[in-house]
Amino acid sequence: MVERQVTAVIDAHAHCGEMDRSWSQDFADYARQVADTDIVGVAFFSPVMEIYDRYDINFVDTPEWRKSRRRSNAYLLSLRSPALTVYPYFFIWNDFAVDQLSPVHCGIKWHRHADEPVYHYNASRCAEALDAIRRRNLPVVLEEELDNTVRFIKELAHGIRVIIPHLGGLNGGFRAIADQGLWARENVWADTALASRSEIEAYMEDYGHGRLMFGSDFPFGDPASELRKVRSLGLDPGTEKAILSGNFMRLQGAIRGE
Ligand SMILES: [Zn+2]
Repeated sequence: MVERQVTAVIDAHAHCGEMDRSWSQDFADYARQVADTDIVGVAFFSPVMEIYDRYDINFVDTPEWRKSRRRSNAYLLSLRSPALTVYPYFFIWNDFAVDQLSPVHCGIKWHRHADEPVYHYNASRCAEALDAIRRRNLPVVLEEELDNTVRFIKELAHGIRVIIPHLGGLNGGFRAIADQGLWARENVWADTALASRSEIEAYMEDYGHGRLMFGSDFPFGDPASELRKVRSLGLDPGTEKAILSGNFMRLQGAIRGE
């Protein structure tokens, strides 16, 4: 019998929180879902609804929302488990509260969709936050409209590693990102969460596999089936390992100066 080589897998894209119960997405829910998989580590982001009211385009920040953000981000820092290494990302919003960054934060989550309240890109606090992110060498998972994605990468985020999730699926699409020349940039990474097999293959064809990471988009994606999707591509073992864990560790290693 030939034993399958087991690669310890890291999920580079999952949402986790205990306040927004519109989805089952607390740590126990995630741990249960991945219990029978090879996933041993996970990058967690707060649920959007714990950060701002995505359904109110005229959203005005309040002390209550600030409290919710603080509590939500703190929850991710509190997670400990022998079975799963948690890599907490800090979900940043318009108060650009980088003073809440702790040494254990592994990245930044930056997220909005087209009909949601906007980030204040022209605010001086935004530039200051980007400086702080750059100094700490934290990667930014950027889910934004295409125009803002392009501006962020071409104008604002010089020297910052940006991960475009879903192979661009919610940033204007894989092709639009390609047409803008963003995938080709050395500081632009990608994750496979909910991307199609053909997009993953097209990405690797043009840009290789050095900046591509496995992600599940839990709870919107199922970690086990997202993992099966990547394994079913029939990649050579080295390439598969890079996508399932190696690239994430390289990304994180750069923070710690390894
Ligand atoms: Zn997501």
